[in-house]
Amino acid sequence: MSSRALGPAEIRDLAGLLDLQPTKKLGQNFVIDPNTVRRIVTAAGVAPGETVVEIGPGLGSLTIALLEAGASVVAVEIDDRLARQLPVTLRERLGEVELTVIGQDALTVTELPGDPAVLVANLPYNVSVPVLLHFLEHFPGLDRGLVMVQAEVGERVAAGPGSKVYGAPSVKAAWYGDFSTAGKVSRQVFWPVPNVDSILVRFDRHDPPGTEDERRMTFALVDAAFQQRRKMLRQSLAPVLGDSAAASARLEAAGLAPTARGEELTVADFLAIARS
Ligand code: SAM
Repeated sequence: MSSRALGPAEIRDLAGLLDLQPTKKLGQNFVIDPNTVRRIVTAAGVAPGETVVEIGPGLGSLTIALLEAGASVVAVEIDDRLARQLPVTLRERLGEVELTVIGQDALTVTELPGDPAVLVANLPYNVSVPVLLHFLEHFPGLDRGLVMVQAEVGERVAAGPGSKVYGAPSVKAAWYGDFSTAGKVSRQVFWPVPNVDSILVRFDRHDPPGTEDERRMTFALVDAAFQQRRKMLRQSLAPVLGDSAAASARLEAAGLAPTARGEELTVADFLAIARS
């Protein structure tokens, strides 16, 4: 283990110093295993000189590994105590570092210094999908990323049509990029130990298939389709498109069967309905 990494003893000491009681509400499960953070940085393919945005740096486990890989880091942390402590910890362990800390809710961040091209994060469980979609929407310069999320959520985000776990997050993620899972992570690498395992999810951005107005309409259709996932689209889309006759007409105009269900449709199909 590198002497600069945070292991169980260092995490315990830092938590003690801050009198920190990790909260479930903020998804505060800190990585205590240096091999796991190195695995994340390697899977993300972080190169020296790159600017990386990290959401939820916590006590700094992953941030240290990113800085050791030669990245500049912009870290967004909602918890004031952690945001204030982070530069202190990092300076103590690494000396001068290329770090900017933004003490803010990631869901409200609309500007980032340094134009980061890479997102790397161990995301807080309860807001992982909204945070991911928020960053993809607001920061088109983010070309790729590697995030750790709850295993079920990661499998859903990376799923394709026809899969049992395909849902609104899968279609919305596919608007922005190609998503794939990159290996499970045991719950034992965290303190406190969560009730679920985690998974790594990788993405590479592609050009959006439509305009911003079309994206909004497409996402509204996706939400309606998966709110009533077992219903046929002519029924589930009726509230958004007027009534079931209007929904049937739009579906037919888009070349889709009104009896189809949301779980069979690709993002391009939803976009075709939005355009019809
Ligand atoms: N990166 C650290 C690690 O791997 O040990 C901590 C990861 S922990 C799963 C999630 C972190 O996200 C916590 O530090 C928590 O305070 C922070 N957080 C939770 N909700 C947030 C939000 N809405 N915006 C920014 N940070 C948030």
